[in-house]
Amino acid sequence: MVGSGLVVRDLSVGYGPVRALRRVSLEVPEAAVVTVLGANGSGKSTLLRAISRTLSFQGGAVTEGEVLLGDRRIDRLPPDRVVAAGVCQVPEGRRVFARMTVADNLRAGALGGARAGRAESLARVRELFPVLAQRAHQRAGLLSGGEQQMLAVARALMAAPRFLLLDEPSLGLAPLMAERIADTVREINDQGTAVLLVEQNAALALRLATHAYVLEVGEVTLQGPAAELAATDEVRRRYLGVV
Ligand code: ATP
Repeated sequence: MVGSGLVVRDLSVGYGPVRALRRVSLEVPEAAVVTVLGANGSGKSTLLRAISRTLSFQGGAVTEGEVLLGDRRIDRLPPDRVVAAGVCQVPEGRRVFARMTVADNLRAGALGGARAGRAESLARVRELFPVLAQRAHQRAGLLSGGEQQMLAVARALMAAPRFLLLDEPSLGLAPLMAERIADTVREINDQGTAVLLVEQNAALALRLATHAYVLEVGEVTLQGPAAELAATDEVRRRYLGVV
């Protein structure tokens, strides 16, 4: 067992009668980047929701297994306590508060974190995303898609998480903007935050990650060092589009 990583062990999840995850196990070591690849509907978002404890908002429930942060179980905590424990999710679809200003979105993100670190978190976010500092008083809904994704990530960072859960950050973005988001993820990780990255853009995800898992219909079918997985026929064919 790892000392301080995020560990998912034998996790099964259902939405009523629909079984979305079956005995999924994975590990995100402290300060690592781990990616989960999988087709539409394979259970990637469900996995993140189960960790962040937001599953019940979608009508889902964990039916077996556990989630640990170090040696502490976090799978019974309410979502705000998971954030306080150091795990924060950026949901798919860059859900920012469109009518609120950029600055107010960031303030809302800070509510989950320790008060003491707020000024520090804000400074970090301003440095990572200068464009958000420039647009602080603009309504979030007026930002471009890529900028909204940046704001969603920035908002999560305001809680100063040790583990950032990222759901499809490149979805719907132009390639250049997707690359910028990838650079930012790398920078965030360089600063010591571990990242669990869910992505359909497997090429991008495998470049960022040290370790990768493949989910198929709710089950982990492959896992290993990202570079090794990227070299397998299975991943090349199914996820990297190499024929
Ligand atoms: P995508 O990339 O399309 O978001 P995903 O890999 O994230 O896919 P999930 O959204 O986790 O997959 O879905 C896993 C399975 O659970 C799918 O069969 C999906 O239809 C089902 N599912 C997801 N959310 C719900 C829900 N709120 N109610 C019922 N079934 C759901």
